Amino acid sequence: MAGTSKAIGIKPRSISLRYWLALWAIDLCSLIRFAAGVIGWIRTERREIRILAYHDVSDVAPRKDALRISTPVDLFEQHIRYLRRKGYRFMSMVEAANRLRRSEVPDKAVVVTFDDGYQSLLNAATPVLVRYSVPATIFVAVDFIGKPEFPWSPESAGFTRPLTWEELSELMSKTTIEVGSHAATHRPLHALSRSEQEAELGSSRRTLEDRLGGSVRAFAYPFGGWDTFPDGLQSLLRTHGYEAACTNVMGANTAGANLFALRRVRVGWNDRLWRFRLKLAGAYDWSDRVRRMLSLLSPVHTKPEHSKSSSCTS
Ligand SMILES: [Zn+2]
Repeated sequence: MAGTSKAIGIKPRSISLRYWLALWAIDLCSLIRFAAGVIGWIRTERREIRILAYHDVSDVAPRKDALRISTPVDLFEQHIRYLRRKGYRFMSMVEAANRLRRSEVPDKAVVVTFDDGYQSLLNAATPVLVRYSVPATIFVAVDFIGKPEFPWSPESAGFTRPLTWEELSELMSKTTIEVGSHAATHRPLHALSRSEQEAELGSSRRTLEDRLGGSVRAFAYPFGGWDTFPDGLQSLLRTHGYEAACTNVMGANTAGANLFALRRVRVGWNDRLWRFRLKLAGAYDWSDRVRRMLSLLSPVHTKPEHSKSSSCTS
């Protein structure tokens, strides 16, 4: 089991001036991209499904969260209230997959997802989801359920711990939650052998179904960057009975999309409402394509890791 940050390829990253400059540069380019859409220079698609990717809903200081996997509770409520007020149609991952398959995509469709399985989902996110009658999908890294902390987010840094099985059941009893697999050990699956991949996909699904009941049909790739969901892995997911899989590549999903390479919109502590609205409008979708181009041009094309992959950055 990948029990240490070293074993699963996670490197701490502090927030430097360079980090902020990169964020502001992305903001500026995205604002220009948004303006081009408003004045009609770039065509914007309305019939698309935006899948939001949250992690921990807690008030972690930004300087402790360079991965941007925490979203303050107040900000999370602002996002959900905005979506509800603007008439967004909420759906589960399975409904989204069915609609994409049948080319029945409504306007302003959105799926709220949470990765990893933080305890804050129960105490902080659920009251908001209940208040606004919003269904959600949680992708659980099964081997961490009940553990004292995730290796990439020690509780001492302010992140909440993994949920327990009892808390997962309580979560499901309080609101409409679909549970999907985020693999067992949260390792980059593309780097594993076929037999290890089989074990991750099969055991995580069976464990969730045995402990929680129901069937598990949705999956989210650990890390989820461009190189982490090759065709062979997608085929294996189909073989194991999954019906859809989410990446962490920024973007939207339109009718006919590859259901095993679904795009998401990463959300974190720096997504104040104006930036959240731009992300919903697709203004930031370009950023991962550019990151990928730069990565491919780089003489050293490294494997993804939590600090470099798009899984927790925006
Ligand atoms: Zn994850």
